[in-house]
Amino acid sequence: MNEAQLDDLIAYLKFPSVSTDSTHSGDVLQCAGWLRNKMASQGLEAKVHETDGHPVVVGKNRHVEGRPTVMIYGHYDVQPADPLELWDSPPFEPRVEDGKIYARGSTDNKGQNLAHILGIGEMIAAEGDLPVNVIVLVEGEEEIGSPNLEPFLKEHKQDLACDIVAVSDTGMLAAGLGTFTYGLRGITCMELKVRGPEMDLHSGVFGGSVANPATAAAQIVASLHHADGTIAVEGFYDRVLPLQEWERESWAGLPVPPDETLSLTGAPELFGESEYTDTERRWARPTAEVNGIGGGYQGEGSKTVIPAEAFVKLSFRLVPDQDPGEILDLVRNHCEKYTPKGVNVDYELGHSGKAYVMDPQTGFGKAAQKALKNTFGSEPALIREGGSIPIVQTFKDVLGVDTLLLGLALPDCRIHSPNENFLLQNFFDGIRLNRELLKALGQ
Ligand SMILES: [Zn+2]
Repeated sequence: MNEAQLDDLIAYLKFPSVSTDSTHSGDVLQCAGWLRNKMASQGLEAKVHETDGHPVVVGKNRHVEGRPTVMIYGHYDVQPADPLELWDSPPFEPRVEDGKIYARGSTDNKGQNLAHILGIGEMIAAEGDLPVNVIVLVEGEEEIGSPNLEPFLKEHKQDLACDIVAVSDTGMLAAGLGTFTYGLRGITCMELKVRGPEMDLHSGVFGGSVANPATAAAQIVASLHHADGTIAVEGFYDRVLPLQEWERESWAGLPVPPDETLSLTGAPELFGESEYTDTERRWARPTAEVNGIGGGYQGEGSKTVIPAEAFVKLSFRLVPDQDPGEILDLVRNHCEKYTPKGVNVDYELGHSGKAYVMDPQTGFGKAAQKALKNTFGSEPALIREGGSIPIVQTFKDVLGVDTLLLGLALPDCRIHSPNENFLLQNFFDGIRLNRELLKALGQ
């Protein structure tokens, strides 16, 4: 273990760089300054760039014509630490115990991006130069949806031109098992407001003659799925890319305990499309979920009203090549068709992000696999993830490049939760992984 590198991690984790909370704006800014200095001490030319929100820190080595340019992306902002009473030690006073470091931001994402930066520093110190041109971009707004990143990328497009992006902010299947995430699901969201009478009504005086918005909302929701869990919206699956045979075979061989989802969730049994495995459903099949539903009296006891309105919050996890805008149109048409008489529905569209997939057997993908193999000593796991990382699509749209997702987050690292932790072995492996990656990408 390199004590100086551990000290760096501890210093970084001490900043309560909570991006969503304006009382922490000063801490976010200080953290950006610390990061700039850390990049500079590792041999990069580094700068803090102001944005309309929190700053972006960018570091570069000496670029040489003819070498590939790799952007390494990370974020130095963190989620709020609440509820504080559930932490075993204060979230911004890093504690090392049993080979793990406990602090907010340890896995998500300071530990992972610092590993890249220190890996670069080691390589420059040992070899005088890197085999590739590097742009390290660490933003301070990932946890609030990166509102200023796309404008920043556009504004600095020339300066940030690159051939590939590498990000360590995804999962690792198991400790010691190098994991290459080559696909992510997309997302789109919609809220329905179902409106009936102008006010809550007496259900005895008016019941039976006026439609009930809560009932109507339930009818619309019930129409979204067939009984077997497949989605009933016409055209919903039309653009879904079928899973490839090699993916199904490779995923079936991954060391995922068969009852992992049940034990992680406490659900009484699994549910979903019967012709797909649990892993396939979560990584490569689209969903329609009710995230919230409500209306009418919510208090104790009974209150005999016909509510004036009800609401439904929906989100859809999308897979390649579904288009978020088209899905919203299809869903809206479907909901209109299944809206019973006597109510009106207003539709409010939420945020969207396209699904992402790259071919892991391309040149850069192969380099990533080689780096993982050299670091961890075995063939890496090739996976997709069910979550969405919209910036990956932004890199594709603005910079025209793919992203290598080489995450070090273990299933029990508790990101966004109390007692977030990072396995120190992963921190030091991450430093080695970065060196292996730059070497492989330079070949
Ligand atoms: Zn996060």
